[in-house]
Amino acid sequence: MKKICTDCKGNGFIRIPYAQVKEEMWADCETCNSQGEIDDRGPFDLTLQIEMLQKQKEILQSACRRAGKKIKQLEEDCEKLFEENQDMRRKKGTVL
Ligand SMILES: [Zn+2]
Repeated sequence: MKKICTDCKGNGFIRIPYAQVKEEMWADCETCNSQGEIDDRGPFDLTLQIEMLQKQKEILQSACRRAGKKIKQLEEDCEKLFEENQDMRRKKGTVL
C-alpha cells in the first residue's frame, strides 16, 4: 500500500528555505526518493526506526573514533612530557 509522502506532500521535491540559499531553489525529496509517495508499512513496521537507529549508530561510532584519536594524542603528549621531565631532572642531577 502506498501513501502520500508527508515531507513533500506528494510533490516529489521540496522547497529549500529561502534563508539558506537566498534564491528560489528546490531539491529532490529524499524521504520518498522523488516519488511523491512512500510505502505505507503500517504502524508496526520497524524499518524506519531501524534506519534511524542505524544513523544514530554511525554518529556515535564517529564520535567514538574522534574521542579515541584524542585519547591517543593525549597519551602521546603525556609520555612526551614525562620524558622531558625525566630529562630535566637528569640534567639537574636529581635522577641517576
Ligand atoms: Zn517526498
